[in-house]
Amino acid sequence: MTRDKGNDLPDWLENVVAKEEKARRQAVQAAERRAAAENRAEIMPIAERFVSVNGEGPRSGRLAAFIRFAGCNLRCAWCDTAWAQGSDSVSEWRTTEELVRWVREAGVECVTLTGGEPLLQPGAAGLVEALVRAGAAAADEGGATSYASLVERASAAAEEAPAAGPLFVEIETNGSQPIRPLVALRDRLAEEGLPGRFGFTLDCKLPASGEARAMNEDNYALLGADDVVKFVIAEEDDLDAMLAVVEAHGLGGRCGVYLSPIMGVVDPAVVVDFMREHAMAYATLQLQLHKIIWPGVERGV
Ligand code: SF4
Repeated sequence: MTRDKGNDLPDWLENVVAKEEKARRQAVQAAERRAAAENRAEIMPIAERFVSVNGEGPRSGRLAAFIRFAGCNLRCAWCDTAWAQGSDSVSEWRTTEELVRWVREAGVECVTLTGGEPLLQPGAAGLVEALVRAGAAAADEGGATSYASLVERASAAAEEAPAAGPLFVEIETNGSQPIRPLVALRDRLAEEGLPGRFGFTLDCKLPASGEARAMNEDNYALLGADDVVKFVIAEEDDLDAMLAVVEAHGLGGRCGVYLSPIMGVVDPAVVVDFMREHAMAYATLQLQLHKIIWPGVERGV
């Protein structure tokens, strides 16, 4: 190729320009990486979100806004949301601010964070705090927290959205992730006297799930009156394992104990017989409401 000598730079100057261009590109890339890292906790992978009736816990049968996060670290043998386990289940990425706004617009009093496993998200605690604050009758604008700017923006979003009462945020977790950081957050919010609050529906995986060893045993001691331990009963032998966990951790009377036999696999009458036989007056039989109302439907209910 013939070069136009009139526009050419000397080689040494071309090298300087190329080096400067490379340094500029690297600086831009570093800034983008920093921005992505800072935003990472706020942008979360969502598998689906919808409003439906709550199928679990003390608020079973009440309307709730469901946010199902994509991705799970477990592989339960009987999982009925296996489609949401992998990273390919992401249907959208949403910020805390967007999720809070959507919940407020839904006009419900309950929010269920589910999965997948919601506590795998670095932004989970920030979202919970933002939801509680946004649902509070008098949002505390002055609360200095590590999520201060995020909460401020979420509160601003909530002010623009239709008003709804205080929110109860239910966190459905698979029992493998530590809940201690969120329990500390709950204590702090309670000290502020916010009318909204949150609780855990913590799965305890039993032997038939194949994931019993993944349970974080430290979690049980942290549970209180707003929390539930849910045992999915996939075979009759699971009942003995369930009782061993309940007794070892003194769950009866301290938090909810819900027994959920898999529909069509374990006869609920067998579970009731077991409850009677072992005087489990503190426990609640939970039928799989969604499978009764919408048999065969996996998504959006
Ligand atoms: S923890 Fe939940 S989403 Fe994950 S594999 Fe088990 S049942 Fe499925």
